[in-house]
Amino acid sequence: MTKVFLKKKIQNRVLLGHPWIFGNEVGQIDGEVNPGDIVDVFTHTGVFVGRGYINPQSQILVRLLTRDKNEQINDGFFLQRLQKAWDYRKKIGYVENCRLVFGEADELPALVIDKFNDYLVIQTLALGIDRWKPAIVAALEKIFSPKGIYERNDVPVRELEGLPQQKGFLSAPFDTNIILKENGLKFHVDIVNGQKTGYFLDQQDNRRAIQHIVKGANVLEAFCYTGTFSCHAAHYGAKSVLGLDISENAVATARRNAELNGLQDKCEFQAVNAFDQLKQWTKEDKKFDVVILDPPAFTKSRENIQKAITGYKEINLRGMKLLKPGGFLVTASCTNLVDPSMFLETIHLAAKDARKKLRQVTFMTQAQDHPILWNIENTTYLKFLIVEVQ
Ligand code: SAH
Repeated sequence: MTKVFLKKKIQNRVLLGHPWIFGNEVGQIDGEVNPGDIVDVFTHTGVFVGRGYINPQSQILVRLLTRDKNEQINDGFFLQRLQKAWDYRKKIGYVENCRLVFGEADELPALVIDKFNDYLVIQTLALGIDRWKPAIVAALEKIFSPKGIYERNDVPVRELEGLPQQKGFLSAPFDTNIILKENGLKFHVDIVNGQKTGYFLDQQDNRRAIQHIVKGANVLEAFCYTGTFSCHAAHYGAKSVLGLDISENAVATARRNAELNGLQDKCEFQAVNAFDQLKQWTKEDKKFDVVILDPPAFTKSRENIQKAITGYKEINLRGMKLLKPGGFLVTASCTNLVDPSMFLETIHLAAKDARKKLRQVTFMTQAQDHPILWNIENTTYLKFLIVEVQ
């Protein structure tokens, strides 16, 4: 097997448990480098560090799959890792719908698997893991005997690995318009055309967090996608709910979701640009009791962090201005590079500019089935804040 030796002077990151090895951290390579192959990694003095897959086309040269020298990477390895990920979800109580595999947090770098009751949706985001797709699918068949498995690899990040964007069935074809249950509600999920894997499981705990503050309230949800927070708000007793999303498709599904739950009389959805609409309503002095904001990631690159922060500040400032005194702002950020303290600081600055006082109700993160590893930065990617605004 090809041997990769780390440079003498590297950051402790890898030795402390981070599975990524960048090209500039590698001193010498003994043996052939075939993109996607499994290699062994050693310190400069020859101490075994771990075993993982290599791709010279990627900035992340090696991603480690194991630190156990006796563990071989084969079909059985994937069966065992997937079983472990499933056992963990069961242990913490995420059984029906869950992010079954959350990449590095499940020691399966660049692999994402969402379980929507009897269906599984997969993303293999690096060459070295993509190679093992047949083994992964076989393992999933064995553990779950699912009604269907689908690949949502239509993701630009794959191109950095020299992989094509693609989507399709990894099992016998099935009806990809499914319904899942969450918190006592039902939601349509379009596995083929929905965003990401079709549904945002990472907000499943946070959707419950609005239960009390929406009672009797007039609620505005901007960036509502398929109306999951809106339907929760109506279900928990809101007087009226208005959801906005730029995507006509998302809005159409949001309407169907409200109907599916018998909440259509309370819910209205509009396909508009939320930035423009919120700006206009601020001018018109329109007011709500609760404003919910869950925009898409504003940046994926470090150069644009400042731009993302400006975006968060603007949208939250408008949200605050649209609230009656004592109203609640429910605000989220899924931008990985904007860390929790940066996000809170941005909300603080928005409040200052809007001349509002904030009282924190709760500050949460992604649902528990998206584990956070303390030795890997940026795994706390979702920020979810509820504040009372005076
Ligand atoms: N809260 C949702 C997820 C929201 S994802 C859930 O839990 O399921 C972000 C949404 O913002 C996407 O649906 C996207 O279509 C929408 N979006 C992006 N830019 C927008 C804009 N300028 N105005 C309104 N919606 C926008």
